[in-house]
Amino acid sequence: MNIAIVGGGIVGLAIGHKLQSKRQYNIDLYEKEKQLGFHQSGRNSGVLHCGLAYKPGSVKAKLAVSGIKQMINYCKKHSINHDICGKIVVATSNHHLKLIDNLAERGKMNGLKGLKFLSDGELKQREPFVKSLKTLLVPEEGIVDYKAVMKSMSNNILSSGGNIYLSSKIEKIKKINNKMYININSSKAYDYIINCTGLQADITYKKFSKEKRKMKIVPFRGEYYTLTEGAKKMVNHLVYPVSNPKFPFLGVHFTRMANGDREVGPNAVLAFKREGYKNSDISIKDMVDYLSYPGFLNFVRKNFLFCINEFSTSILKSSFLKKAQVLIPEITSNDIFSGPAGVRAQGIDLKGNLIMDFDVIKTNNQIHILNAQSPAATCSLAIADYIIENYIK
Ligand SMILES: Cc1cc2nc3c(=O)[nH]c(=O)nc-3n(C[C@H](O)[C@H](O)[C@H](O)COP(=O)(O)OP(=O)(O)OC[C@H]3O[C@@H](n4cnc5c(N)ncnc54)[C@H](O)[C@@H]3O)c2cc1C
Repeated sequence: MNIAIVGGGIVGLAIGHKLQSKRQYNIDLYEKEKQLGFHQSGRNSGVLHCGLAYKPGSVKAKLAVSGIKQMINYCKKHSINHDICGKIVVATSNHHLKLIDNLAERGKMNGLKGLKFLSDGELKQREPFVKSLKTLLVPEEGIVDYKAVMKSMSNNILSSGGNIYLSSKIEKIKKINNKMYININSSKAYDYIINCTGLQADITYKKFSKEKRKMKIVPFRGEYYTLTEGAKKMVNHLVYPVSNPKFPFLGVHFTRMANGDREVGPNAVLAFKREGYKNSDISIKDMVDYLSYPGFLNFVRKNFLFCINEFSTSILKSSFLKKAQVLIPEITSNDIFSGPAGVRAQGIDLKGNLIMDFDVIKTNNQIHILNAQSPAATCSLAIADYIIENYIK
């Protein structure tokens, strides 16, 4: 069976790696950039999420729990740098106290092991600079080098006979006699085409299926600051705030990266361009696309203060710093400098609700992975199994 995968982020690569390792499939993976993983997958927090906050029973919760185990095994097998260092979630206001209990409850329902509330002494030992009213330890969480994971998956695809085509944007497909053809390589017939185009997934869906988009991807940029060498001592592992359950974003947190750096972020700023990594990056086309969508306007109407607040953290370092200081009060402006940024592909429905679960649509021989949001990097291998088992016959 010939299968074309469009999009060379971690989701496309994981699906390609899994399919190509089975004898009956032949994979061609097409990526529009000159390199793999150039967008979300190469610009994330590098965290292995184990399924704490996700709604029990959701696809996301199920795949996060199984996905982290698979990813850890994959890293062990292929000698990829990772560390299950655990994370703490920190309640810093009375309002958080109920929410942190709910999080612990959700984690238990999702099957997480070893969750426990830390005493002040235990917190001090683990993260001496963190201020907290109540602290939840999530020992199964960790960090990983996702770029190395993607490199390894792409090597596996190539060494087992698959093809990867870079600088290959797929714009058009056609169907003749139950086989699919694409604008590049137009003489090759495919049994399935899988859309893994991340930030472009809804546009690709519309182009390929000719059907109206049921949701729209709105770009939310996540900006990071990096801690200076001298400030690194303030963060030993992963330090997260209690997230707002209304949003899929986890809030500005401190991360020890796999390379030893410490980062703080990301915020969640409405971006003026889908693949725009600076706040000066603007695409009129992308903006018209979401500004003309009633779901976007409904979202902004319902969450105006959130949008303004996040935007302020993008243009004012002091505003960003305030969020960081909620967790580590001693951190100052001199301790952090501007770091990398990523843009999240966040689906919004017509009513203006952020879509909280993964979303897959199959139309004929096309499989579209929409809304592969965090923790899709952690559970990319589990997503691959889910697609193969449920959508490829
Ligand atoms: C700031 C941030 C922090 C995050 N932190 C974490 C984390 O710590 N842990 C975690 O598990 N997840 C995290 N995530 C989420 C995770 O990174 C994404 O869910 C995941 O990378 C999505 O992978 P993808 O392959 O679907 O998308 P992408 O990585 O965006 O890949 C899509 C690819 O498709 C290509 N493409 C688009 N259109 C076409 C076309 N027409 N033809 C050919 N190619 C095309 C693009 O160039 C791109 O390479 C984070 C995301 C962000 C943005």
